[in-house]
Amino acid sequence: MRQQVAAANWKMNLTITQAEELLNNLLQQSKQLSDHQKVVFAVPFPYLALAQSKVNSHPNYFVAAQNCSEKKSGAYTGETSVEMIHSLGVEYVVLGHSERREYFSESNALLAQKVDMALSYGLTPIFCCGEPLNIREAGTQNSFVEKQLKESLFHLSAEQLAKIVIAYEPIWAIGTGKTATADQAQEMHQHLRAVLAAQYGKETAGIVPILYGGSVKGSNAKEIFSKPDVDGGLVGGASLVAADFTQIIDALK
Ligand code: PEP
Repeated sequence: MRQQVAAANWKMNLTITQAEELLNNLLQQSKQLSDHQKVVFAVPFPYLALAQSKVNSHPNYFVAAQNCSEKKSGAYTGETSVEMIHSLGVEYVVLGHSERREYFSESNALLAQKVDMALSYGLTPIFCCGEPLNIREAGTQNSFVEKQLKESLFHLSAEQLAKIVIAYEPIWAIGTGKTATADQAQEMHQHLRAVLAAQYGKETAGIVPILYGGSVKGSNAKEIFSKPDVDGGLVGGASLVAADFTQIIDALK
């Protein structure tokens, strides 16, 4: 079975004390996951080492950085390299979140460089894509998201693409409480898988997990994750509440 992933995106929230408490809570309640099920905590940079030390003894629990530099090393004050992230034992990095695209002007071309840098150190990118409300209202969401994938991922070999996790996050559903319906999520995920299949073949497209993100909660996760092309979720707000995120983990197929 394709990997199923519950990924928590903490964004710029929590103090170190709160972060430790939340991780302790979640890991104490952690149930035995099947081999194909994974939980990933995308925590702020200052908490990566702490989070990594906590998940080390929990199989199938992982840590992600929320961003990385496209540069290898050097005079880039304030940046964090993939090498640094990798040196902590962290295995995932979230790339292209809509907040980074919007507030930090991250382009598809820049993201292609970040994807390459992450893969060169063996990190798994959780590559975010998704359309704003005006595009959804115009009905052109499929081609919009397709372009994001093509411009940031399609230079990869099939072997490299098989290492990517995609997160489809319609921007109008992020942090708004407005969730895409399970059918809307399935429709886009199916489209994206077809786009991947056209470029890389059905077998490779069938390996890539496609997560849904946008106001996933404990109460709606099961329905959304039940769709055949939805392989889990990337979760913001509800990942900060232990009871909610535990329910989301339990909803994984
Ligand atoms: C996110 O930030 O990736 C996200 C999906 O946020 P929320 O779950 O709060 O909508």
